[in-house]
Amino acid sequence: MSIIKNYLKQNKTTHTFSSCQWPIGDPQEKDFHFCEATNVVGKPYCQEHCDIAYIDERELKKEKEAQKNRRIAA
Ligand SMILES: [Zn+2]
Repeated sequence: MSIIKNYLKQNKTTHTFSSCQWPIGDPQEKDFHFCEATNVVGKPYCQEHCDIAYIDERELKKEKEAQKNRRIAA
């Protein structure tokens, strides 16, 4: 019974992402793959792709703030 438990435990840990999940290429294409570089602790992406992801997020926030400010000014 403990063998099964251990197996399940091991299986579970393999489901946590240990490599960058940034998609590269077109999912419809054969050469589609994930980046698979070592990811930043606690993040699903490597440092390079974290930078891209968080820059995008920041830009989106800035855009939203700008729109809000415009609305207040009008
Ligand atoms: Zn990456």
